[in-house]
Amino acid sequence: MRWDNLRLTDAGQGTPDVPLFARGAVTRTFDTPEFRGMTFYEIHARSIVNRVPGASHVPFEWTINPYRGCSHACVYCFARKTHNYLDLDSGRDFDSKIVVKVNAPELLRKELASPRWGGHPIAMGTNVDCYQRAEGRYGLMRGILAALRDAGNPFSILTKGSLILRDLDLLCEAAERAEVSTSLSIGFTDEQMWRSVEPGTPRPGVRLEVCATLTGHGLPCGVLMAPILPYLTDSPRALEQTVRLIAEAGATHIVPIVLHLRPGAREWFLDWLGREHPRLVPRYLELYGRGAYAPKAYQARVARQVKELAERHGVGRSSRAGARHPRPSAPAPGPSGPEQLTLL
Ligand code: SF4
Repeated sequence: MRWDNLRLTDAGQGTPDVPLFARGAVTRTFDTPEFRGMTFYEIHARSIVNRVPGASHVPFEWTINPYRGCSHACVYCFARKTHNYLDLDSGRDFDSKIVVKVNAPELLRKELASPRWGGHPIAMGTNVDCYQRAEGRYGLMRGILAALRDAGNPFSILTKGSLILRDLDLLCEAAERAEVSTSLSIGFTDEQMWRSVEPGTPRPGVRLEVCATLTGHGLPCGVLMAPILPYLTDSPRALEQTVRLIAEAGATHIVPIVLHLRPGAREWFLDWLGREHPRLVPRYLELYGRGAYAPKAYQARVARQVKELAERHGVGRSSRAGARHPRPSAPAPGPSGPEQLTLL
């Protein structure tokens, strides 16, 4: 692997020449069933708070990503490509070979204490899921949240992981000192689809409960309804069911995002589609034949449908968190939308 001399931005977001690894990686495997077939590469990162390149169309400027690769294994995940920078493949390796920045909490404390740090909001879960399975063993997020709480630094978290509830105490304490917002990624609620498309994630119903618990504790929690899969999860009935359940969970807001297929994710997703829904392949090639995004008219139609459904079901109206905190700014959907978000 190219790790000894690796020089790239965290998550491959485009900042050139940032040394990522200061020392060699320690390779580890665990015998327990949940980690079977997985390999962890423990490394010491040189920096942990990363600046997003100015050209990125994302609603945040600073990020923390304690892991690379993601055992949630969503077939559409477009962080997949970033694994190629490690000489690992963007398919099965991305799901099962996870880089762990074991010094993330200590490093963060140092960086937050630096006179050069400006106390900017920090986004987490923007590249891979910080509450993926590895977090259950490494517990990096507890140290990270404690450091952010102690510094009174604002932050946001986007996740599919129910493990976030383990850290409810720290989230509530941090929210007393600075703005804290959370988002769950729930693109659809069909269980059969979930098993096939997002095999390593908690089921959608569990994620809805997480949303309800967070808002019940006064923490603002929105839902990134992403990705919406053309011809698979975009029927009026499917959209209606998902939005209704999100509303019942007390989400403060919904942001719908239609699937996009960039290199890395594209090959892996189309491979899956060919196996599971071969008759849809020509229709997808028509939709995504000219690039990574579905046509604007299609995206606009879905956005309109979700907006109407959200109004009808009263998304945000029953949220205790929404009443207590202002709504956080949400990423804009669409072709110039959250290019660096991985649709967690
Ligand atoms: S989309 Fe998010 S949760 Fe799914 S594999 Fe990618 S990073 Fe993990």
